[in-house]
Amino acid sequence: MSPTPGRSYLAIPGPSVMPDAVLRAMHRAAPNIYEGELIELTASLIPDLNRVARSDGHVAIYISNGHGVWEAALANTLAPGDKVLVPATGRFGHGWAEMAVGLGGVPQILDFGKQAPVDMGAFEDALRGDTGHQIKAVLATHVDTSTSILNDIPAMRAVLNATGHPALLMVDCIASLACDRFEMDAWGVDVMVAASQKGLMVPPGLGFVFFNDKAASVRATQPRVSRYWDWTPRGNPEHFYQYFGGTAPTHHLYGLRAALDMIHAEGMEVVWARHAVLARAIWAAAEAWGQDGPLRLNVADPANRSHAVTALNLPAPHGTHLRKWLENNAGVTLGIGLGMAEPGDDAWHGYFRIGHMGHVNAHMILGMLGAIQAGLGALDVPHGIDALGAAAQVISEGTA
Ligand SMILES: *Cc1c(COP(=O)(O)O)cnc(C)c1O
Repeated sequence: MSPTPGRSYLAIPGPSVMPDAVLRAMHRAAPNIYEGELIELTASLIPDLNRVARSDGHVAIYISNGHGVWEAALANTLAPGDKVLVPATGRFGHGWAEMAVGLGGVPQILDFGKQAPVDMGAFEDALRGDTGHQIKAVLATHVDTSTSILNDIPAMRAVLNATGHPALLMVDCIASLACDRFEMDAWGVDVMVAASQKGLMVPPGLGFVFFNDKAASVRATQPRVSRYWDWTPRGNPEHFYQYFGGTAPTHHLYGLRAALDMIHAEGMEVVWARHAVLARAIWAAAEAWGQDGPLRLNVADPANRSHAVTALNLPAPHGTHLRKWLENNAGVTLGIGLGMAEPGDDAWHGYFRIGHMGHVNAHMILGMLGAIQAGLGALDVPHGIDALGAAAQVISEGTA
């Protein structure tokens, strides 16, 4: 709980702020899981999830977090000994690669560091080097939540096509879905994983694997797939219990129904545009502060920045002090830096992140930025002037 009175803003990159409509939808007695409303409500989620993903393919829902669907996607497509190519732009690519190792997969990691997106030349070289097509899947991260790098997924599909490489293109959209533009079918993505607690505005606990017919045919060639992770019955259930391989996550489903209603009432294009404007407001403020002080955005080129999360550098110990100041004085909780320095190392205190995914609007973002400015002042951290004016101007122009 925030020690300050008033509404608090958990500005970490997931779990995100939950709309009251989502909370209200979940506040109910346990529903029957054998017949009645829940059965139809669950079926109604599938097309609306697909509309968020811009896909006409299959959806499997798991009672899990993002790590669970990392494993689910791999459990359906990899056999022990299979190679995967992992272009990593921060912590999360490595995390998915580790998941593959746990299933007997053999990752080839292309590490692009913590400040740059996937380099398509290096990606192409790796695919061309795989003359025997040993690589079964590319594990890409759309938005790496530790660095806030946005990767160019259509460009990766173009390289796969240009090289004639048959590997599945699997994309982690856990941070980006319903925040940054993502078009599964048009972009030629075969498998996409997402989770409930970020852009979808629902508590942690639901994981999603979207997969197309090509990925389903790869699944069909697997000699065996763990029963629980098998996406086949979940994606095409004959009986209701098969959606979840057991008892349904009843209240999460009601919450998700409410969240999808909100997203589609607003419209995907509008949702993406809102995130874009709010992200640009944050960047404008950060750039203004950095004009006359040490605060820096992690990603230099705006084209490579996510609209869902922003990673920043404020040299130790100021990063941690700023987070604490905001939590204790302003009702705003910023995210810790992730994967930028080892915990225990002094440098760890030089990073923080802002989550701006899902249920966020201009007054929350401007309030959060105002609180950061107050914190920089209170902590005597040098910073440039008129950051808030710059942020407000972005919002004025973005809504004109
Ligand atoms: C949050 C996140 C994950 C991990 O999700 P958990 O729910 O914490 O398991 C994986 N990848 C990305 C890009 C994320 O943002």
